[in-house]
Amino acid sequence: MSRVYNFSAGPAVLPEEVLKEAAAEMLDYKGTGMSVMEMSHRSKAFEEIITTAEQDLRDLMGIPDNYKVLFLQGGASQQFAMIPMNLMKNRVADYIITGQWAKKAAKEAEKYGKVNRIASSEDKTFSYIPDCSDLPVSGDADYVYICENNTIYGTKFKELPNTKGKTLVADVSSCFLSEPVDVTKYGVIYGGVQKNIGPAGVVIVIIREDLITEDVLPGTPTMLTYKTHADAKSLYNTPPAYGIYICGKVFKWIKAQGGLAAMKERNEKKAKVLYDFLDQSRLFKGTVVPKDRSLMNVPFVTGNADLDAKFVKEAKEAGLENLKGHRTVGGMRASIYNAMPYEGVVALVDFMKKFEEENL
Ligand SMILES: *Cc1c(COP(=O)(O)O)cnc(C)c1O
Repeated sequence: MSRVYNFSAGPAVLPEEVLKEAAAEMLDYKGTGMSVMEMSHRSKAFEEIITTAEQDLRDLMGIPDNYKVLFLQGGASQQFAMIPMNLMKNRVADYIITGQWAKKAAKEAEKYGKVNRIASSEDKTFSYIPDCSDLPVSGDADYVYICENNTIYGTKFKELPNTKGKTLVADVSSCFLSEPVDVTKYGVIYGGVQKNIGPAGVVIVIIREDLITEDVLPGTPTMLTYKTHADAKSLYNTPPAYGIYICGKVFKWIKAQGGLAAMKERNEKKAKVLYDFLDQSRLFKGTVVPKDRSLMNVPFVTGNADLDAKFVKEAKEAGLENLKGHRTVGGMRASIYNAMPYEGVVALVDFMKKFEEENL
């Protein structure tokens, strides 16, 4: 068996310890004589899995008691609709457009109400985060929406926008649990777990209780109403049980690493190796304004599409996989999530140095 360094943006690398544990428990989970994917979601064993997972997430993020944690399905993309359906009481919302995911979310919200795009960085191919200290937030906006880490473009909000008292809703799919977070600054934090936490198929929604109401838009399906899942503790219907189990293991793994402060330190150390190299390279160049750089997704280019393709191909042969940039951007992108070891980033930079010498 040999594992590669997997720089995929998602689904992405998971901690090896977690995969080994899951493998060991595959045929007989803790004496139940069955695997977690074969057991009833109403069983005692699964109840313990989901309650422990929620508690560990609460501990990691310091989630206050007046927030619910929901384990849902439908991916981050389903939240693009669920958020307006549940939150758009006035049928108005403000969106900050920092990439494709925010753009898609805004477009979906438009089906339900008026969407004001109060800031955008599209003028420079989303290579920066706009100044959000004094935006024209709409007086009647139900919420202000951001995509906190832009997976495709490699930018991250280092400071949250000034929402002028409005509820902040954030898609954190690609920066979930990568650093400490002050949950009280948000009304809703959500993310698909397949970037930084677990297997595709689970989306976690952390939502302040006062935003969970029966007063949703007419026609909102039961399954797309937050209250349904909050009241049923994420067990209204069969949840993505195996995925939740793996997420729970990743939460334990992060705790064992020292929690979110330790994750941040590790992530900064890893990202620095790559950014420092990019800043002095004569062949490769980062595409993002330095102050807005993501710790998780690092896009870079040579400026020559043929050379980029050659790089991706040769890197794969050297055991460095999934470095091709997003199809809408081109070039390369290294996603260096929590589970990417420091050694993986060093191996990438060593390979880039060698490639630079050979191709300059
Ligand atoms: C991947 C991603 C999405 C889409 O996630 P799905 O689970 O595939 O719907 C949305 N937002 C961000 C920031 C992402 O990285």
